[in-house]
Amino acid sequence: MAKQWTVAATEALKADGLQIAELDTSARPGFTGDKEAGLELLVERSQVLSELQEKLYANGRSGDKRSVLLVLQGMDTAGKGGIVRHVIGSVDPQGVDHTAFGVPTREELRHHYLWRIRKALPRGGQLGVFDRSHYEDVLVVRVHNLVPPTEWEPRYDEINAFERELVDEGTTLVKIAMFVSLDEQKKRLAERLERPDKYWKFNPADIDERAHWPAYQQAYQAMLDRTCTEYAPWYVLPADRKWFSRLAVTELLIDALERLELDWPAAQFDVEEQKRRLARA
Ligand code: ADP
Repeated sequence: MAKQWTVAATEALKADGLQIAELDTSARPGFTGDKEAGLELLVERSQVLSELQEKLYANGRSGDKRSVLLVLQGMDTAGKGGIVRHVIGSVDPQGVDHTAFGVPTREELRHHYLWRIRKALPRGGQLGVFDRSHYEDVLVVRVHNLVPPTEWEPRYDEINAFERELVDEGTTLVKIAMFVSLDEQKKRLAERLERPDKYWKFNPADIDERAHWPAYQQAYQAMLDRTCTEYAPWYVLPADRKWFSRLAVTELLIDALERLELDWPAAQFDVEEQKRRLARA
């Protein structure tokens, strides 16, 4: 662990018992370095992440069924896209299986809410990335009464059972809930309106969603309270500082991959014999 981390990210960002209402979204739990130190460390740790991910992919190619699934949840402008671009962007895209979940299509609505999720699960050796996920079905759906409480209420237990199944099949889940303050969100939305290169990220509905923040806060709290399990824990990421978000997610992914204790797959051929053959070829 780099010396600027006084507590490992896996400990410092644990959701256990955390109250979102009390969260300081500008904090950098566990990390004492400043932005410059953080960015410097990020370069170094991205290399580590990249090598671990390559090992996962290599093992998958050799038949290993295990995978890692990063689940990113957060309100608009929390920085999910930045994580995908900058953290996931530092690893080999061949081994990445990225899915963004938006408003369900008509076909998706005809199925159980986990139908589209199951279709997008990473295969062995893949690093799956969910930009939003099945948790929208207890967040936006709950906040906007898209289905009655009798329908969303049982989903917490159902999601826990679903994730238990995934873990038993060899998927390591890394669930991260990202939070920015309402002020920081306003700043980021304003930037999207100032810069033509950011217009594409702006959605007028994002402004309306701000009014629903108390209800979202409640729904996020219920999500953390009810679906933070020992086999698929939640991490809560204060996300006002983009550099910290990226560093923290990198660390959480490194931890998940290290726990798989991956080695490079052994050669399925006699190396010396192949060297001799190559010399003669
Ligand atoms: P983003 O806002 O992340 O850039 P999109 O423009 O595709 O991406 O918007 C995603 C939208 O889809 C969000 O408003 C989100 O709440 C909504 N959404 C995702 N899943 C569901 C769901 N299961 N039911 C209803 N709305 C959903």
